[in-house]
Amino acid sequence: MRYISTRGGSPKLNFSEVLLTGLAPDGGLYLPEHYPKFSNDELNDMRDMTYQDLAFNIFEKFIDDIPTNDLREIVNKTYSAEIFSFARQEQTAEDITPTLELKNNLFLLSLSNGPTLAFKDIAMQFLGHIFEYVLDKQGKTLNILGATSGDTGPAAEYAMKGKKGIKVFMLSPHGTMSPFQAAQMYSLQDKNIFNIAIEGVFDDCQDIVKAVSNDLEFKNAKKIGAVNSINWGRILAQIVYYFKGYFDVTNKNSQKVDFTVPTGNFGNICAGHIARMMGLPINHLIVATNENDVLDEFFKTGAYAPRSSNDTFQTSSPSMDISKASNFERFIFDLLGQDSSKLSEHWKKIDSGKAFKLSDEDFQKIKKYGFVSSSSKHSNRMNFIRSVYNDFGAIIDTHTADGIKAAMDHSIASNPMIVLETALPIKFEKSVFESIGVHPKRPHTLKDLELLDQKFEVFENNAELVKKYITDNT
Ligand SMILES: *Cc1c(COP(=O)(O)O)cnc(C)c1O
Repeated sequence: MRYISTRGGSPKLNFSEVLLTGLAPDGGLYLPEHYPKFSNDELNDMRDMTYQDLAFNIFEKFIDDIPTNDLREIVNKTYSAEIFSFARQEQTAEDITPTLELKNNLFLLSLSNGPTLAFKDIAMQFLGHIFEYVLDKQGKTLNILGATSGDTGPAAEYAMKGKKGIKVFMLSPHGTMSPFQAAQMYSLQDKNIFNIAIEGVFDDCQDIVKAVSNDLEFKNAKKIGAVNSINWGRILAQIVYYFKGYFDVTNKNSQKVDFTVPTGNFGNICAGHIARMMGLPINHLIVATNENDVLDEFFKTGAYAPRSSNDTFQTSSPSMDISKASNFERFIFDLLGQDSSKLSEHWKKIDSGKAFKLSDEDFQKIKKYGFVSSSSKHSNRMNFIRSVYNDFGAIIDTHTADGIKAAMDHSIASNPMIVLETALPIKFEKSVFESIGVHPKRPHTLKDLELLDQKFEVFENNAELVKKYITDNT
């Protein structure tokens, strides 16, 4: 399997190369040259597989430069019951991502049972193991530069801490994460972990990562790699739980399901799109946004108009406070029939701070890919956290509540609807308490998290300062 850049101006790479590269040299994102398709018989064979076997089966289609036995070992190490029973001991950990039925045809897919209590652990734990493996084989080291709005950072740092050959430089918006999220990262004392709080919002952090990565000389000299959701390895790992969720709620492949995905950078739902392209019988993919509704606007009008950081709201679902979705380019590439020159034309506008609008013809094609969307606001989140608690006895976090809201807007009672639970409520305790007056459960391992010593730097919003800091510490 070879990988191509959405912008069409970069050499084709194999999996291990793509894994370590992040952004393509032409500024595009890597995608496999074609999507492998599962036949009906293959889907039947996969139906009763364990999570580990499912993951191996899917990864194997995309990775042909790692020996099979090694890949299997990496998968088994990553998706162990031990790692994914950290958060909710009462659930069957072997399941990794258990499905919870709220009511007839409404399901939550729990993705937040890893060490940092958000779905990002599922991909990041895989990256931690596969990075260490590939770097060791190639005798290389890697300095990971990332940006986080609150959940990527902890997931990356927990996955990479103590890993050989890897250092992590993580940018976060100063003072806007929940105290719990900040403490998860800043309390890590590992020598290979560097926390940098930027005086700005998440998009500023993401822009610094782009600026540093676009300085090819610096990127190569300092061996800069990425773990934000543009990394293909993360998208790949996320494909697996769409299959798992589908098999959990159906018993034959003629049944179709809908998935609702709380969306920020479009990484999670991009994996759902790819699962659908691979033949998983998904009817609709529902994009749930919060007040930062750039993507909702796109799916309703065909106009994609990212907003500046000044026009990005801080909301009670902060991991979705994103106005420029870094993986969106991957979906648009497919929508445009993988036409790189058309894609590049659109993204020339995006990269210069402008907007694009699809032609009517291209806009009509969105239906073919199953996408619909909704947005929600604080009062919706409060109401849905309360109604899910009152009606079903489950406590959900604010992002998952955005998902439930969107699912309610689009669900058809006769079709299974799977809402992806993207974080545990304890991560957003204040908002959850505001809604139901109940404190969500905290894993006993994290009892005094916010009281631990913290280690981080505060920088103004300036890419040069970040470069200097990396130089001084590598
Ligand atoms: C990262 C995150 C999201 C958004 O996921 P994307 O892949 O960026 O679309 C939603 N909810 C939570 C809790 C997150 O951490």
